[in-house]
Amino acid sequence: MSRRELHPRAGYEQIRLYAPGPEREFTIDLSDNTNRWGMPPEAMAALRDATSNALTRYPSLYGGRLKALLADYCGVTPDMIVTGTGSDGVLEPAIRAFGEPGDRLAHPDPTFVMIGAFARMNGLIPAPVPLRPDYDVDAPGMLAAGARIVYLCSPNNPTGGALSPNSVGRIVGETTGLVIVDEAYAEFAAADALDLVRANGHVLVTRTLSKAFGLAGLRIGYGIAAPAVASAIEKARGPYAVSAAAEAAAAAALGPGRAWVEARAREAVGVRERFASALRRLGLEPAPSDANFLFVPVRGAIGLAARLSERGIAVRAFGGLSPVSDALRTSGGEALRINVAPWPTMEQVLDALQQELHDD
Ligand SMILES: *Cc1c(COP(=O)(O)O)cnc(C)c1O
Repeated sequence: MSRRELHPRAGYEQIRLYAPGPEREFTIDLSDNTNRWGMPPEAMAALRDATSNALTRYPSLYGGRLKALLADYCGVTPDMIVTGTGSDGVLEPAIRAFGEPGDRLAHPDPTFVMIGAFARMNGLIPAPVPLRPDYDVDAPGMLAAGARIVYLCSPNNPTGGALSPNSVGRIVGETTGLVIVDEAYAEFAAADALDLVRANGHVLVTRTLSKAFGLAGLRIGYGIAAPAVASAIEKARGPYAVSAAAEAAAAAALGPGRAWVEARAREAVGVRERFASALRRLGLEPAPSDANFLFVPVRGAIGLAARLSERGIAVRAFGGLSPVSDALRTSGGEALRINVAPWPTMEQVLDALQQELHDD
């Protein structure tokens, strides 16, 4: 038997495995924008009550019951919903369903880092377009990219702000291919793009139960689009994508657990604003945020994050970001992204930051 080298399809050498930071336990982990208050108790109870019979059998084919609940939550009809294994599990099959190998996928830079990998996995070519200095999307730049698929993220990860409705509307109006609006942080923002979905057959909004709903470990996401778009994405994602346990917890979180979720989201917004003021008093410059995290351009962010991690505190550090704003030029493209948590936790982070910035 000869040992031959086996190559994956073209473009895979440019895909790196996702490695956002060290995979270990921290006393305080504010690195991944999950719900630091936990999950709705009703969802926990649903997981405990899942019967052996329910878990021995396959879950529903395409998440029918969950689609009905999500449709009600979003104010659309169930045929406009597609569920997935996290919103990653909607984004990736959407690109497969609506892009051909060799097509370009335009996305703002910086944005959710996985989107370039999802494009390459399907043979598409990522076309990054720098954000404007105010972190809004550059609509003319995106339109000039000659892309078959346009990806937008609002509020944008990692910069935190919502994109302006004008820019998003213009991109939707002048694009014929699929326009994706990733709303992973919709529950913390004042506006959303659901009206654009209702009015346009080529817009897909993706959302998740990983952030405000506190269920990241269960991997539940969904998309909202015209029925024909939702149905094509279902073909690409295949049956049984959301596990029975995840489906049960999601149903509880969307139903009896929803009041808990909404109250925690409101609290997160309050903590975010209070934490932003405290950071400004430390001389830092957090960008305006519509999400459950703050983006803080600061020179030496990578070293700062490493020192915080020695204190048992994890935050996400970025380096090499495109210098799209004055703040990112001053910071040399380095920034921290800090998730919000109950206020006493944020006070510990402020103490640590104050000491580390002082020691500099
Ligand atoms: C967290 C995140 C996701 C992925 O969420 P999952 O539903 O857990 O796959 C997608 N997009 C953005 C912008 C995110 O921040």
